[in-house]
Amino acid sequence: MMRMNQILEINPADGVAVVQPGVITGELQQAVREHGWYYPPDPASLKECTIGGNIATNAGGPRCLKYGVTKQYALGLETVLASGEVLRSGGRCHKNSTGFDLTSLMVGSEGMLGIITEITVRLIPHPQARAMLGASFVDFAAAAQAVQAILDSGTLPSALEITDGFTMAAARDYLGNDKLPPGDAYLMVEIDGNEETVSRELARLQQFLSDQGALRIDEAPDEDACERIWQLRRDFSYSLKHTGLTKLNEDIVVPRSKLVELVNFATQLQQDTGIPIACFGHAGDGNIHTNLMVDNYADPATKKKADAALDSLFTWIIGNGGVISGEHGIGLAKKPWIKQALGETSMAVHRSIKDSLDPKGILNPGKFLD
Ligand SMILES: Cc1cc2nc3c(=O)[nH]c(=O)nc-3n(C[C@H](O)[C@H](O)[C@H](O)COP(=O)(O)OP(=O)(O)OC[C@H]3O[C@@H](n4cnc5c(N)ncnc54)[C@H](O)[C@@H]3O)c2cc1C
Repeated sequence: MMRMNQILEINPADGVAVVQPGVITGELQQAVREHGWYYPPDPASLKECTIGGNIATNAGGPRCLKYGVTKQYALGLETVLASGEVLRSGGRCHKNSTGFDLTSLMVGSEGMLGIITEITVRLIPHPQARAMLGASFVDFAAAAQAVQAILDSGTLPSALEITDGFTMAAARDYLGNDKLPPGDAYLMVEIDGNEETVSRELARLQQFLSDQGALRIDEAPDEDACERIWQLRRDFSYSLKHTGLTKLNEDIVVPRSKLVELVNFATQLQQDTGIPIACFGHAGDGNIHTNLMVDNYADPATKKKADAALDSLFTWIIGNGGVISGEHGIGLAKKPWIKQALGETSMAVHRSIKDSLDPKGILNPGKFLD
């Protein structure tokens, strides 16, 4: 699909863009921004992933806290079915209750129900201004408490990201001690809106985080300064890579009230298995990327131990009202846990939808329904 990479239309009057599936997500964002419009879903892979892939996995990202995930922006799809027929679902209307929601059925279907060949996405006006605060805390529990306090105070940030002590330590090792603030947890809060509101809100939030016990607060009042804080966020990933260990990144989600319990569980799992675990991610919506840092996953004994640890993690997640994937989808990596995650009835409904749309099983075979 990579060669189907044309932006066919950007139409601010209708608040839509029509694109082929191979358009790179970041390029669509940039193109609509030049018209003053915004396509918010922002997976960290946006410079290399495609809108078609985002639709097929229902991709998310940091700004989905305020703006929602890819699903909320898919207005219409053209899909080639296994039969070769072309299905048009939805369209360019921002509301649509006409028939079953076949567009949403295709979103997140991981290429197993049809091949998406054209996408109409919803656009919204681009916010005028953006600002950020980076605040370090003594530990994860203190930072998680601040997450809830910010939301309780009536502020809905565009992004609310949290980082644990393991990741902070890896970043100190990679970037140098002086590049990181003191503390064992880091919170990044981004707000956007019109210029006056953002500047007032930034000052209020700074005081608020200080009252919540922040050890150090870095202020980013404009987009360039925000980029420096986002760079630190990206550096957290590189720091984990720099450890030389293989990162098994699990994009699990828990109800937000269970953030601290999740990290406590991960700490215990680390002690029980000897496998280091790093947790960071989208605190505002409970989507904490839990990374098992494994020495040599190709080694059968290590793989067995890591898979057993993943099994404990997913079992805990499912038992605590969470989900095993918030944005990456199931693919092959999470296939062993799908039955446990969906339950019998849901699996049967999934199977009957698959059988009716793809009776010969020719679309993305070998995945979680086989
Ligand atoms: C460094 C990095 C950071 C990431 N960060 C995030 C993040 O923040 N949030 C997030 O959600 N994900 C993230 N991801 C995961 C990944 O980038 C996303 O899932 C993305 O949506 C996949 O898009 P892609 O174009 O790479 O699709 P691919 O990986 O090529 O495909 C993904 C699935 O979609 C199917 N598919 C692709 N195109 C079509 C089509 N046209 N029709 C039908 N099926 C199709 C494929 O068969 C496959 O099953 C990250 C990945 C990396 C490597």
